[in-house]
Amino acid sequence: MHMQVGEHMSAGNAASIHKDIEGRGRPLAIEARGLVKSFDGTMAVKGVDISVPEGAIYGILGPNGAGKTTTLRMLLGIIDPDEGVRRVFGHDRPHDIGRLIGYLPEERGLYPAMKAIEAIAFMGALRGLPLAEGRTRGLELLERHSLAHAAERQIRQLSKGMAQTVQLLGTLVHRPKLVVLDEPFSGLDAINQGKLEGMIRNLAEEGVTVIFSTHVIHHAERLCEGVAIIAGGKVPYAGSVEAARDRIPAQVRLETRAREGAWTAALPEDTRREGDFFYFPLPESGVEPLLKQLIDGEAGILSLSIERAGLHDAFVAIAGEAAAKQLEADQVGGAA
Ligand code: ATP
Repeated sequence: MHMQVGEHMSAGNAASIHKDIEGRGRPLAIEARGLVKSFDGTMAVKGVDISVPEGAIYGILGPNGAGKTTTLRMLLGIIDPDEGVRRVFGHDRPHDIGRLIGYLPEERGLYPAMKAIEAIAFMGALRGLPLAEGRTRGLELLERHSLAHAAERQIRQLSKGMAQTVQLLGTLVHRPKLVVLDEPFSGLDAINQGKLEGMIRNLAEEGVTVIFSTHVIHHAERLCEGVAIIAGGKVPYAGSVEAARDRIPAQVRLETRAREGAWTAALPEDTRREGDFFYFPLPESGVEPLLKQLIDGEAGILSLSIERAGLHDAFVAIAGEAAAKQLEADQVGGAA
């Protein structure tokens, strides 16, 4: 599904309609324009625009300190922007519709002495769900996530990953329409990261809008319909993952039997040679005219592949080498 940056914001509290590339209208769950936030005179967020259609999985992708948490907190109404507007389901004051929202903050924390089932019910109660209902649903959720055995255990007796899953279930127990997850993959092992990806997909299939922040590109690439790339408090790109990838031409990898010949003149100027292979961006005219010249020139094609750019390459092209390096360093730092 392709997306475009949303239409202009409408007046009042009516949710704006977001037009996708096929021209179908989709209401926006989140709409933010020109969000700015400073702390102690330093600008943390410098004018962020984001449009998230209802039912989308949307990623806020950027390195440590880029402004992801500050942006999410403004979207939720936990802090107010210095400038700009945001609407959640068409409401100017996201606080008023807290019951429709589930939020997993970056700093995890449940009362260590509380039992898992009580922690889930308590979190639901904070969003208006009666405690008894919270316990019933909480047990169902724990069973569905193979954690029924942990229901009566205190949070302090659980592993970090289990406690984090319990907190996530507490975020979902009141069945929110919008789920906001700040670095949800951080602190989980590979198996639990995979399970979380599954949970996020299931939520979206049920029509729930999910927005999450991450500094790990492959989570965003695998899951998200749309992403906002954030670096240094700015959003140089917001839109579909597909359109971000399309910003860079596909890469051609060619292997030939002959090394030299008149046919080499047909290769694009920016061709790179590595060992037996030639690498170059797919020419605008496509690969066919080039193939003809290689065949006529008896280059002896051994292999040829055309690979579409990944979100990582798109990130480098959009946010710059420095931001990409920082992103990689954050991942190597073990915070994935
Ligand atoms: P991380 O991935 O490390 O969590 P982030 O992208 O979520 O980073 P933010 O937490 O939004 O980034 O921080 C953006 C900038 O704003 C940072 O320079 C941070 O130090 C600063 N900042 C955030 N919150 C506060 C605050 N309450 N007081 C002062 N500065 C803050």
